[in-house]
Order: sequence, then C-alpha cells, then structure tokens
Amino acid sequence: NLYNMVQDLKGNIRVYCRIRPSFSYEAKTVIDFVGDNGSLVILDPLKPQKDGRKVFQFNRVFGPAATQDEVFKDTQPLIRSVMDGYNVCIFAYGQTGSGKTHTMSGPSGGSMKDRGINYLALKDLFQLSNRRKDIINYDIHVQMVEIYNEQHTLEIRSCTGDNGLSLPDATMHPVKSTTDVLNLMKLGEVNRVVSSTAINNSSSRSHSVLTVHVHGKDISGSTLHSCLHLVDLAGSERVDKSEVTGDRLKEAQYINKSLSCLGDVITALAQKSSHIPYRNSKLTLLLQDSLGGHAKTLMFVHVSPEEDSFGETVSTLKFAQRVS
Ligand code: ADP
Ligand code: MG
Repeated sequence: NLYNMVQDLKGNIRVYCRIRPSFSYEAKTVIDFVGDNGSLVILDPLKPQKDGRKVFQFNRVFGPAATQDEVFKDTQPLIRSVMDGYNVCIFAYGQTGSGKTHTMSGPSGGSMKDRGINYLALKDLFQLSNRRKDIINYDIHVQMVEIYNEQHTLEIRSCTGDNGLSLPDATMHPVKSTTDVLNLMKLGEVNRVVSSTAINNSSSRSHSVLTVHVHGKDISGSTLHSCLHLVDLAGSERVDKSEVTGDRLKEAQYINKSLSCLGDVITALAQKSSHIPYRNSKLTLLLQDSLGGHAKTLMFVHVSPEEDSFGETVSTLKFAQRVS
C-alpha cells in the first residue's frame, strides 16, 4: 500500500511541523507560506525582503488551522503498526507555548473536545484490538514517566526478554477502555502538578513519557510485544545565561543536553551510523529499544507564529532539519 511505499522511501524517521494559531489578531506572523508538500517558508521580521526568507522542508507541515483529527489521521498508520509488533516513538518538540501538550494531550482544562494524540491513539488501539479479537488476543498496559534533570530518582534498568528498558518504580497499569486511560491521565496530571510545585517550576521543564505496552498472542500461540512511546518533551527554548543562575541554569543545561542528545541519536540513525550514542542521556537510554532497528520514529516540531518567537522558531526548525 501507499503508506508502506512512503515508509520505504523515507526510512523509519519522519518529521512533521505544526504551527500553532496566533494568540492575537494583531500579532504579526513570521509564517510566509505553508505548502501541501511539506515545505514551509518563514520571514525574518528584521529583514522582510527576499534575503529574510528561509525555506524548510518536512514530511508534512500542519498550518494553524489543522485540526486534532487531521493531525491524528496522518499518524494513525504509524500508531497502528504497534499492533503488528513495531516499536514506535512519537515526540513533541518545541519551545514552551508552541503547542506540544496540545498535540499530545489536548487543550489545557481537559475538555473532551480536541483530545490529542495520546487519547486518540489509545482509543484507536482498543478498537483495533476488538476488531482482531477472533485471531489475536491483545493486552494493553500504560506507564507514565517524567524525566527531570537527568537525575530523576527513577532508576532505569534492563528487563528480561525483548522489552528493553523499563522503570521499576513506574507502575504498569492494565487498561481496557478509554475511560481507564482518561482516569490514568488525570492521575498523571495530578502527579505532574504536585511534582512541579515541589521543584518550584512548571511541567515544561521535564520530559513526559507515556508508554503503551502491547502484548499479543495469536491463535497459533505466537506472541508479540511492542511499545508505543508518546513523548511530550521539555521546552527547547535557550535561556539567557546572564539572566538565570543556580538551579534554573542547571535545569536549562540538562534540558539542552538531553534534547541535543536526542538530536544526535536521531541524526546518527538517519545517517545509518555504526555508533548510536544512546547512553548520553536518560531519555535516549529509556527509549533505546524503540529508536533505531525496525522501530519507527515521528518527530513533531512545533513553532509559534509570532514575530517575537522568530529566534526560537529558527532554532527549532534547524533542529528539525538536522534530524530529518
Ligand atoms: P507547550 O506544551 O508547547 O508549552 P501548549 O500545548 O500548552 O504548549 O500550548 C500553549 C497554548 O496554546 C495552550 O493554551 C494551548 O491550548 C494553545 N494551543 C496550542 N496549540 C494549539 C492549536 N493547534 N490550536 C489551538 N490552541 C492551541
Ligand atoms: Mg506543555
């Protein structure tokens, strides 16, 4: 089918760009052009002439008007492949406020409208599981983990078998329905708020990983185990070293380090390098078995359209070019 053909052509790493709608009608946008073929043109507000135009190319670009359903539809085949035994990672990258959590979880406040990929993915996997129930029996578990400052208290260790790394103190929750998932996500949000007050900061300073473990057993008795990792990354914004000190600076350095390690790993995979530097950060170590090999990776890079975000937008788009 067409999807497999595209996969073969592009390899197992794809990069999508999503542009958040502008917060205000007055704000000037840096978005000049969004092409159906994945091209994006932005305009430098200080050089609004021809030499201020920068062109980027992705597998797809979602403009500000794209709906949650449209975004999900495009990722659905990738998500479904977890039910066939593939490991899949989906990342949301971008500066704080660019729409990462909107894409993964949905709008703040938790309304049922406009649910994000996490919820839509699980709903879809349950439906698929049900549809295939006569030929294959699936068990689905989810696990939620936050990685903060590389030094989080959760210890990563190897599990036996083919299921790679797991965090022993991150409880595995069996889920049978979307209601189970919603309840768990609420719990996760509560925990996130608690821990963010404890570290005196907002949740955008940690990586939030929702892992869906799928076990399948078919009528002939053969089994599969695969994982879907849905990762809402810490904000990618650079901090001004002259303005922050102490814990805040350390935190920013950890975030920069782990995001650049993630970039290094994906770049090495894209270049089919013989050495993949998984061990340089907790995040890549945790996801090791789901990055590379037959695993599939999708990076959503998010950008804010406003002029005052131009600098961050350029550095986000450059990161995206590096990994694609
Ligand atoms: P991040 O997680 O990257 O810090 P958020 O997802 O919290 O950013 O988005 C910032 C704000 O913008 C939120 O209020 C969110 O609901 C809103 N927002 C982000 N993306 C969209 C979108 N595509 N459509 C509508 N609102 C959005
Ligand atoms: Mg967020």
